[in-house]
Amino acid sequence: MPQFVIEQPPAVAIPVAGTKALFPVRRVYCIGRNYAAHAIEMGHDPDREPPFFFQKNPDNLNPSGEFPYPPKTSDVHHEVEMAVALKSGGRNIALDDALNHVFGYGLALDMTRRDLQGEAKKLGRPWEIGKAFEQSAPVGPLHPVSEVGHPDSGRVELRINGQVRQEGDLNQMIWKVPEMISYLSEYFELAAGDIILSGTPSGVRAVTKGDVIEVSIESLGSMTVKVV
Ligand code: MN
Repeated sequence: MPQFVIEQPPAVAIPVAGTKALFPVRRVYCIGRNYAAHAIEMGHDPDREPPFFFQKNPDNLNPSGEFPYPPKTSDVHHEVEMAVALKSGGRNIALDDALNHVFGYGLALDMTRRDLQGEAKKLGRPWEIGKAFEQSAPVGPLHPVSEVGHPDSGRVELRINGQVRQEGDLNQMIWKVPEMISYLSEYFELAAGDIILSGTPSGVRAVTKGDVIEVSIESLGSMTVKVV
């Protein structure tokens, strides 16, 4: 056993549906503007430009069912997304090999301090301040490929206090899961434990304390997160 000079930070892991087992997390990549209607609502051209990614920190993943309203913002937006969890990785992964690296899929929220992200965009600064804050990625349990296959279509929905705010379909993703994996692997070495958040449909808006967020993706069930 190595000796550490400070207490070791807790390992980050998220539950696997239907088991007591955990999926250990290495990195979290998130794609931007992967649904045309969302690109348009954010003021961008929905044409298929090369994809772009940002990262959240592994310990931003939050399976608790509660989202603590973060500091230094008055405009926190919900973004419902499908999480893709990798069981293996590599460099320059071929498109037709990409899905062989997927362990499973789950529900996730890419919670965003939109006001801080907007300032960062305007100033040409990095997005972490808007994206990679504490508890900013509520997640549900992962569903292994052996249970759910590789969902590439199916309704995506987010409700706030019972009202539908976001709706779309996985088949509307501009960059499909194999393309995201293959593209990322040209720039980074992917590995077991990596998670990719696959973008959000249109309808993003602000949440307030007390809101109950319900997200669902056909074939991956649903998850409820309370803003506290
Ligand atoms: Mn997002």
